[in-house]
Amino acid sequence: MTATAPGGAGPGGRSAVPYHETTEDDYAATYTARLDITHVNEETAVLSGACPRCGCACAYVHTRRTFRGARRRLGDGEIPVHCTCATGHPGRPEGEAGCGAYWNVRLERR
Ligand SMILES: [Zn+2]
Ligand SMILES: [Zn+2]
Repeated sequence: MTATAPGGAGPGGRSAVPYHETTEDDYAATYTARLDITHVNEETAVLSGACPRCGCACAYVHTRRTFRGARRRLGDGEIPVHCTCATGHPGRPEGEAGCGAYWNVRLERR
């Protein structure tokens, strides 16, 4: 299943996909294929990649505090990531970032 944005809708080209909160099964695989993870310290990691939906570069700062309630440790399990690009996607609510795409990334320490 793929979502295809209508072409020729604006000067921004394919990066100007409208804001839409959505996820697809292949987002995680597409994202992690080009992902660069920097462990800042024991509790913080920076995920640098490109959004699988809009294609914009986006960095996601992950900390243990992100899932205070889940009490999972960094390096184990899946973490929720959402697009954080600064591109002005049409229809984006004020105060939000990204294009609305979200997905889960499995962090594994090597
Ligand atoms: Zn974007
Ligand atoms: Zn995006």
